[in-house]
Amino acid sequence: MRLAVVSDIHSNLAALDAVLDDLPEVDQIWALGDIVGYGPQPNEVIARLRERDVRAVLGNHDGAAIGTVDTSWFNVDAATAVHWTATVIDEPSRAWLASLPMRRTEGELTAVHGSPRDPIWEYVASPGVARANLAEFGTRWCLCGHTHLPVIYHADRERVAAMEAIPGRPITLDASRAILNPGSVGQPRDGNPDASYLVFDTESRRAEYRRVAYDIARTQGLMREVDLPARLVERLAWGR
Ligand code: ZN
Repeated sequence: MRLAVVSDIHSNLAALDAVLDDLPEVDQIWALGDIVGYGPQPNEVIARLRERDVRAVLGNHDGAAIGTVDTSWFNVDAATAVHWTATVIDEPSRAWLASLPMRRTEGELTAVHGSPRDPIWEYVASPGVARANLAEFGTRWCLCGHTHLPVIYHADRERVAAMEAIPGRPITLDASRAILNPGSVGQPRDGNPDASYLVFDTESRRAEYRRVAYDIARTQGLMREVDLPARLVERLAWGR
């Protein structure tokens, strides 16, 4: 099975469309949450994912936008954007977000937004946290997002190492298990402003990271039109 894995789209339609145009042939598309929040086009992004029959899980921003996740842990800019999202989201989008599971398991795959241990909030941002989460999912592969940083945590029994996700340099995983993070489509934070995603073949175990340039100024212009926080607008250009 060949999958495209996207995460943290954050209402950035220009970035999502650039990724969808770039996609090679895949059997399924998985989206690891934070579909909305930060960006200007939540309804349009959700409609696009529904057209493509994407398998999605709920992220902290998605739950916050529909009132099922507490926003008291959000910083001021994130909270401002999520409150704006809550006011513009239409009923079909709200219902679709409300239908999303926090964890999805199919065959050899588990998908969550944060971590298997805490699907909404935990950041898998070190080999130690990755190792602590190995016992929390029963499948061979786990897909997670939330950090906005592309990386693979490769587990050989209990030994876990981080592998750098280099675009254009596919890796064949020889690990017994792995946790894979595709990076962020709509708000990359690794210093590269291009949209990040992953193509993963579960049979050949080949993981290919891809980066796609998109019209950042278009998303920024739409954000300014609806008065989203300036810092959120600016960071798209820096990829931070
Ligand atoms: Zn996010």
